[in-house]
Amino acid sequence: MITLDGVRKVYPGPVVALDGIDLSIPAGEIHGIVGQSGAGKSTLIRCLTALEKPSEGHIWVDGQDLSALGPKELRIARRSIGMVFQGGNLLDARTAGQNIAYPLKVAGLDRGHRRERVQELLDLVGLGDRGNSYPSQLSGGQRQRIAIARALAARPAVLLCDEPTSALDTQTTDQILTLIKDVRDQTGVTVVIITHEMSVVRDTCDSVTLLEKGRVVQSGNVGEIVADT
Ligand code: ADP
Ligand code: ADP
Repeated sequence: MITLDGVRKVYPGPVVALDGIDLSIPAGEIHGIVGQSGAGKSTLIRCLTALEKPSEGHIWVDGQDLSALGPKELRIARRSIGMVFQGGNLLDARTAGQNIAYPLKVAGLDRGHRRERVQELLDLVGLGDRGNSYPSQLSGGQRQRIAIARALAARPAVLLCDEPTSALDTQTTDQILTLIKDVRDQTGVTVVIITHEMSVVRDTCDSVTLLEKGRVVQSGNVGEIVADT
């Protein structure tokens, strides 16, 4: 579902943020990308969403080579990638329902179908009766559930989660990670979780890549890798 082949990213300086990344994530897996601050995790995620272009190498997402696409094709390809950020990133002036509806509006879905899909997504994340609440009226965990619903709205093939639980307490973290697993089980979406917490990987991921200074130091099955860290 996701393949990186020799991906290098060099910023002016020069700073080598990614130094030849090879990586393959099969459809339906939950894959963790772990590394200390500065390891290259954000750069990797920006390359996966094509916000950043690799200096060298190729990235395939859902069968498409991102580097071969023009601006218009990229906009369409981005719809098959859902994003969840630390803290949720919801629009405060919009209700939970309107936040979830936004990507559907952009995709041109009519009002009736939007309403139907939004309700389905609210139910999926366990907040069926909170569609009319504003983000300020929701807890941190609830806001993150809405952010996950919004990311899934356009039925993406890939869900990228950037530090999805780092603003949450332990109990809420467990609930959000359980939700991510349930969502994968129900929809078959491929999930990438960027984190600096090994516990998140241990509890949630099928496979993991450890990044250090822009390089893959270990990659594989969680059982094998967590055992020797
Ligand atoms: P992480 O997300 O793991 O903390 P980053 O991808 O943010 O790592 O950063 C990797 C390296 O690239 C760091 O050395 C960082 O300083 C550098 N870097 C990131 N973004 C830029 C940029 N826009 N310009 C120059 N250097 C950058
Ligand atoms: P409106 O359509 O009300 O004028 P927007 O154009 O911003 O406002 O879109 C809001 C969309 O959000 C609605 O079309 C509907 O699909 C969705 N929506 C908002 N709140 C809810 C809710 N509580 N339950 C279901 N859908 C909702």
